[in-house]
Amino acid sequence: MAKAAGFFNLSIKNILANGRSSLENARIRLLYYGLLLILGTVSVIFINQLVQNQAVMGYITGTLLICIIILFKYLTWKPDWRFVSHALLVTGTMINMVDAFLIFQQVDIISVQLVLLIVIFGFYMLGQKWGMLYSILNVVPIILFMIYSSNNLYIINFRPSHLDQATLILGVLTNFILLVFIHNHFYQAFQTNMRQLKKNSEEQGRLNSVLEAAIDKAEKSSLAKSEFLSTMSHEIRTPLNAVIGMSNLLMMSNPRPDQKENLEILKFSAGNLLAIVNDVLDFNKIESGKIVFENIRFNLAELMQNICGGQKPKAIEKGLNFVLDIDSRVKNKVVIGDPTRLTQVIFNLVSNAIKFTQQGEVHVLVELVEDRHDRVTIQFSVKDTGIGIEKENLNAIFEPFTQESVTTTRQYGGTGLGLAIVKRLLELSGVQMQVLSQPGRGSEFSFNIEFPVSTEPVVEKVIKPQEPVATEQDGESDMSHLNVLVAEDNMVNTMLMKKLFSKWKLKSSFAENGALAVEQVQYGNFDIILMDLQMPVMNGFDAATEIRKLKDPKKAVTPIIALTASALIDIREKVFDSGMNDYVSKPFKPNELREKIMKLTSGDALLNDNSQVAL
Ligand code: ADP
Repeated sequence: MAKAAGFFNLSIKNILANGRSSLENARIRLLYYGLLLILGTVSVIFINQLVQNQAVMGYITGTLLICIIILFKYLTWKPDWRFVSHALLVTGTMINMVDAFLIFQQVDIISVQLVLLIVIFGFYMLGQKWGMLYSILNVVPIILFMIYSSNNLYIINFRPSHLDQATLILGVLTNFILLVFIHNHFYQAFQTNMRQLKKNSEEQGRLNSVLEAAIDKAEKSSLAKSEFLSTMSHEIRTPLNAVIGMSNLLMMSNPRPDQKENLEILKFSAGNLLAIVNDVLDFNKIESGKIVFENIRFNLAELMQNICGGQKPKAIEKGLNFVLDIDSRVKNKVVIGDPTRLTQVIFNLVSNAIKFTQQGEVHVLVELVEDRHDRVTIQFSVKDTGIGIEKENLNAIFEPFTQESVTTTRQYGGTGLGLAIVKRLLELSGVQMQVLSQPGRGSEFSFNIEFPVSTEPVVEKVIKPQEPVATEQDGESDMSHLNVLVAEDNMVNTMLMKKLFSKWKLKSSFAENGALAVEQVQYGNFDIILMDLQMPVMNGFDAATEIRKLKDPKKAVTPIIALTASALIDIREKVFDSGMNDYVSKPFKPNELREKIMKLTSGDALLNDNSQVAL
């Protein structure tokens, strides 16, 4: 509803300045000037009638004059153009009827003008519905009147008045002016609107291109950031691998106890740094939408045992009670999903639980919530009796690079990326995480995942990610009979491996790229191949595929272990797809590599060659 402009207002400015649309303003302007014009004309006619002593016409014009003054005052006080328009149209219709049927008893030029004015005014001011109604109200009686009067059926016994010439000319002139004014005014408003529309669409077009440029820039800078992070992380990983590898080598060369302690610290710190770099790489990969989920069969209970098996020693070392509770109905379930990502999620939650708990228990629960034969819903929960989280921080901890408080950073270290990765991984697969926590009492992180159940039996080779590997002292089986080929382009890594292999008394040959490795396999006799994945000329995947295609059946099945520096989560499937038998992530633990070499070169290893792999 429009705001009142003050009772004594007479100016149009005050009633236009209320933030109305241009069409509304045009309507108000039309009413204002139209009423003024009618006011002027009716005043002159009224005076003329008084001078000529025309009683009936004098009363009618006098009443009309008062009506127009009231409407004009109302408009300049409360610019309610709808009401004023209706009032004008009703008044006009009544004048039309009274003129035609009673006063003049004929359809003259003034009647025609009035009908036209009402039709145009009705449509322009009040829209189609009202315009049509007022048109019918005026046109139909006039037509009926014409039909009746032409058949001399008109029976009102009332002497018609006659307009004097001056009033007639003035009336006709005013009506013509009004007709032209209304058209002209609306045409102008229409044109202004069109210009405004054109301007708006040009402005919108300009804004769109600015927006597109901004989006483009943001996308490019986000891409540049991702690429920078990826490159940096890879670049940091390479020297870190060397640091960890070297400390492993030094550890194997019987260091003094004090040296051993320093080496432990060196190895631990480098390992920590590597974990951070891996987290950054992973997070970056998730954020840039490069994550593709796998759908492979795996034994859920076995996977959980493997993940927790690797974490349990840490908990025990801290004096914590560690419980892995797997619902008996889940025990033999083979489900279809992405074990690598599930491992990452559980691993992060369990290591946080251990990290933030000083005493008490870490409880990992795997429970069957719903079994619909071909699909199961499993609830995973990781509960601890640790430091807990304040309620107001429960959302913030899932933000990247955010920890609960500065004290957390100081006391426990970490980057604040773990939970951000967990949350995003779960969200990408449509899973919502729940957290319950009480400061000082503990926390519980839980979520439900629905898995399709596999009915086929799986002959699976389970790679145990956190499998405790035999220690150096566990017996050094003789490897001197083995001839190993290493495809590796990085000099530091080559040097490290040479030192390691000479300790193991392994015979080793080196190739700088995949193509040379394939060539060496063709002409040499190797028991096993260690294959770096990123190499110039020919990468490790292609080299492995070429080797598997060799004509000599013995050479074509030479076991291949991939050496992967790429962290992480998407490499495993590609490794097996290209025909390699296993992989170790760099920096590899010497014992892990040794074990894998031994396993693959002992007679039964090749049985597993093309078996389904599940984590
Ligand atoms: P980080 O472990 O590297 O600090 P996370 O993203 O894994 O990063 O965790 C973010 C923060 O959430 C942690 O710094 C800690 O304050 C809080 N948090 C996570 N898990 C727990 C837990 N089990 N108990 C208490 N606080 C936790």
